[in-house]
Amino acid sequence: MANSNEKPDRAILSADDSMYEPQRNEQALRCPNCGAATGLHIDGAAVENASGQKLQVEATDEDSSARLSVHLDNDADHDGRRHQISLIGWCELCESKFNLAFRQHKGMTYFTKTVTKRNLPKIESW
Ligand SMILES: [Zn+2]
Repeated sequence: MANSNEKPDRAILSADDSMYEPQRNEQALRCPNCGAATGLHIDGAAVENASGQKLQVEATDEDSSARLSVHLDNDADHDGRRHQISLIGWCELCESKFNLAFRQHKGMTYFTKTVTKRNLPKIESW
């Protein structure tokens, strides 16, 4: 966003049509920060609820070295009466980390995108 008064980009995620794989009905996602379709990694997910439980899963490495790390926190801070599910990733090209969160509240699902520069303070959130 160039101006803080502008409405944010409404696309939650977009895909590169040139990388569509019809046999698998699969598309290459674009980075939610820079828009690049290569170098994007979604390696983690988190689920949290109103009682303060937060489960995080992170996938690392590949092939026979692939591992899942699972962490359960029963005293996490949570805002709201329902739950939130987040996808956590990073981009090789723009060196950003991002969190795409879907929060349930009063029959609605709200979306929040938070982007941070690696090892730097938060640069964008909406
Ligand atoms: Zn990027």
